[in-house]
Amino acid sequence: MSTLDLRGRPLRDLRVSLTDRCNFRCGYCMPRELFGAGHQYLAADELLTFDEVEEVVRTAVDLGVRTVRLTGGEPLLRPGVADLVARLAAIGDLDLAMTTNGVLLGRHAAALRAAGLDRMTVSLDGIDDATFRRASDSPFGVSAVLDGIDAAVEAGFPRVKVNAVVRRGINEDQVVPLVEHFRGSGHVLRFIEFMDVGSTNGWTGSEVVPAAEIRAAIEARWPVEELPPSRHGEVAQRLRLRDGSAEVGLISSMSSPFCDTCTRARLTADGRVHTCLFSSTGTDVRGLLRGSRRPGDLHTLLRRVWGGRDDRYSEVRSALTRRADAPVEMSYIGG
Ligand code: SAM
Ligand code: SF4
Ligand code: SF4
Repeated sequence: MSTLDLRGRPLRDLRVSLTDRCNFRCGYCMPRELFGAGHQYLAADELLTFDEVEEVVRTAVDLGVRTVRLTGGEPLLRPGVADLVARLAAIGDLDLAMTTNGVLLGRHAAALRAAGLDRMTVSLDGIDDATFRRASDSPFGVSAVLDGIDAAVEAGFPRVKVNAVVRRGINEDQVVPLVEHFRGSGHVLRFIEFMDVGSTNGWTGSEVVPAAEIRAAIEARWPVEELPPSRHGEVAQRLRLRDGSAEVGLISSMSSPFCDTCTRARLTADGRVHTCLFSSTGTDVRGLLRGSRRPGDLHTLLRRVWGGRDDRYSEVRSALTRRADAPVEMSYIGG
């Protein structure tokens, strides 16, 4: 049965983080200054076990979740990830997706597909090798990600989505080359505005390249037409190059927020449920899972958390930000 939050939004999507570790050090996510050799990662016993993840997902499905996206850190670093996929696929009536940086897909794509993963999204912030290496601050080059995408295709994933976060002064010059590269491939390229999610990315509004600007750069090269949303709650504005060679999505989280239709919650690797990507506080479910409890307690807790949700961070921020480059001072305590 569907559960509504305080703004009448149902719970439909759950992002499940499987680890806080990553083999990249993207400057906007895990900058090396903060995630260097001395960084304290979660200990193995702090991570939710697969039994615990499965129980949370089953309960969330009871409350209305229909899409589960496995993410991280880098989800492919979690040992046995395909086993978890098989357990989640067995729940049934669930769209199972993963977001990955792609470099370990050669090793895992076939097993993930065989286990029942439906969709694959690969992040790639540039097609120029030097730009990509700078942005990801990793030992991997673009070819490692492209090989991963090929491995996903070979494993039978239908249309791979390729996500690029666009940051002014870092990779905005990669928009047109990325479209050029993926034209004709059948993959859907999506450009995402740089968000101030988390507390480690030193976000400033001046680094956001608005979706309208990204669209203009693409249109200057290829005529485009708009496509209708593929589903209710679709977050990307969908464009098609008129020659039919590519579909491109624009995700305008900052310039044109979509909080009113947001149906997403996220579960952190250590078992906290957040009802907004931006919320810094969450509700601990691991304590409940590992303590003494009665049947139905997890259901009651998740229902209460979603039922009390009033998050609309991007909308509030957008209203407060008159100019994209104006510094915004606000603090946000999410649910
Ligand atoms: N490591 C995997 C990856 O990079 O695909 C999964 C986790 S990563 C946190 C998930 C997605 O969030 C990636 O596409 C990444 O680019 C995006 N992301 C991270 N920080 C972001 C930010 N500040 N603004 C916009 N997107 C961001
Ligand atoms: Fe790792 Fe993904 Fe964050 Fe980059 S965006 S540091 S690949 S978790
Ligand atoms: Fe949803 Fe929060 Fe993003 Fe708004 S800011 S769309 S509520 S995740």
